[in-house]
Amino acid sequence: MAKSKAQWRLEHKALNLCTHCNGAVIPGQTLCPTHSARSAERREASRLKRAEMVRLGRCVICGQCAVKGRLHCHQHTALAQTRLEAKLLWRLRHHQQGLCRLCSQPAAPDRTLCLPHLIKERRAKASKTHI
Ligand SMILES: [Zn+2]
Ligand SMILES: [Zn+2]
Ligand SMILES: [Zn+2]
Repeated sequence: MAKSKAQWRLEHKALNLCTHCNGAVIPGQTLCPTHSARSAERREASRLKRAEMVRLGRCVICGQCAVKGRLHCHQHTALAQTRLEAKLLWRLRHHQQGLCRLCSQPAAPDRTLCLPHLIKERRAKASKTHI
C-alpha cells in the first residue's frame, strides 16, 4: 500500500530527514540547510514581489491595476467583499437561529457559542490571564 504524503512527512520528521532530499535537517526544523535556505529565499522573493506590486499600485493577486488605496483590482476587491459579506451573513443567520458560530450546534441561551465551545473559550481565556 502506498504511503500517504502526510505519513511520509511524519516519518521524515521523526527521523530528522529533509522532506526534499533526505539529508540531515537543521535541528528543530524540517529541512536540510540547503533546502531551508532555498525556501527562505522563495519566501523573501514572494514578499518582495508583493511589496513591489503594492508600490506600483497593482493587484497583488493578478497584477492588474489596483483600486486606489487597495491591494487588489476591482475584480479581486469585489471578490474579497463578497466573501466578507457571505461570512457576515452566515454569522447573522447563525445568530438568528441561535446556533454556535463555530460548529452550528444550538448555542447556549444569549450566547453565540454552544456549551462545549463556551467552556473551551473560557478555558483559553483563563489560561491566558494566568500566565
Ligand atoms: Zn534538503
Ligand atoms: Zn486582481
Ligand atoms: Zn460550538
